[in-house]
Amino acid sequence: MTTVAAYAAPAAKAPLERTTIERRAVGESDVLIDIKFAGICHSDIHQVHEGWGEAIFPMVPGHEIAGVVSQVGSGVTKFAVGDRVGVGCMVDSCRECENCRKGLEQYCLQGMVGTYNAVGRDGEPTYGGYSEKVVVDENFVVRVPDGLPLDVAAPLLCAGITTYSPLRHWNAGPGKKVAVIGLGGLGHMAVKIAHAMGAEVTVLSQSLRKKDDGLKLGADHYYATSDPKTFEELAGTLDLIVSTVSAPMDFGALLSLLKVDGAMVNVGAPEEPVAFNLFSLMLGRKSLAGSAIGGIAETQEMLDFCAEHGIGAEIELIRAEQVNEAYERVLASDVRYRFVIDTATI
Ligand code: NAP
Ligand code: ZN
Ligand code: ZN
Repeated sequence: MTTVAAYAAPAAKAPLERTTIERRAVGESDVLIDIKFAGICHSDIHQVHEGWGEAIFPMVPGHEIAGVVSQVGSGVTKFAVGDRVGVGCMVDSCRECENCRKGLEQYCLQGMVGTYNAVGRDGEPTYGGYSEKVVVDENFVVRVPDGLPLDVAAPLLCAGITTYSPLRHWNAGPGKKVAVIGLGGLGHMAVKIAHAMGAEVTVLSQSLRKKDDGLKLGADHYYATSDPKTFEELAGTLDLIVSTVSAPMDFGALLSLLKVDGAMVNVGAPEEPVAFNLFSLMLGRKSLAGSAIGGIAETQEMLDFCAEHGIGAEIELIRAEQVNEAYERVLASDVRYRFVIDTATI
């Protein structure tokens, strides 16, 4: 066991503070990672606030981890000391069920093991990336390609894969009109990735406040959902909508923007349920779907795609003691576009 410094919430809704945690000894198939950067995902805040249900405390959040391998177990074959690597939202799964075998570990029938706020298969609680080091089985570690700096790569491990996976699955590409709802951490990655895939990209934000940024990130069009004219102008025009919004939305109104056979995929994880009229799906043979992160192989594919297209996150690098202030700013939609903790400051 190694004692490492970390930032943790001692109880639900409590501010995060510096503490120490134990990391397990490096097992045969484990790698020890010196964490360099950890992104702040809105999911960290939902969980610290117990917005999704009862959680495990103390909680060390962080599932957008980028770092360097500093030790490998005797059976490790994929990584060596000095490799630049990433860890996302999961650190284990059963590896045997139908979904795991298909590379869909995030949908493991036994339940994937979350990077934090979960109990590992060894019965111990997991602690996330707001810390100096982490020990992870090599099968749940991905390689950060050389061209990608680690600080802007960190948010790809959740925000990147969570948007890449549905954009790929629903065939975003040339000739497709894709809208992204919410220009936050996930949303700005969705814009960059959908643009790189060749789609025509529209941002639907609460206001036009971030319009210049959205267009620079690769959007072709930018509309405010607070303006009723947006819904008149875009009615029936979109092939695919990816909603990244962290709060309940008027799904009926958003579905009205789809073409016949269009699909809206929700990746936002609001704390409250959403109600909408099913006629908004029936009239136009529309689909409403959800998607959670992506499998390990697909996460590697996404990182390679981002490196090839020169895509990293737009980040605001912060010191660890600024984490509580950063949470407040994320809750106020005041993030451009991902806070990343420099873990050297923990
Ligand atoms: P974020 O940076 O806070 O971005 C969310 C954006 O949604 C905001 O920037 C804002 O965009 C918009 N928004 C916020 N409150 C709103 C409201 N009341 N009404 C309308 N729009 C609102 O959060 P994030 O880190 O991107 O995460 C977004 C959501 O995805 C969270 O719920 C998170 O838990 C979830 N998530 C899911 C997965 C998955 O696997 N499915 C993975 C990661 C995260 P504008 O200012 O442009 O309106
Ligand atoms: Zn996340
Ligand atoms: Zn499984």
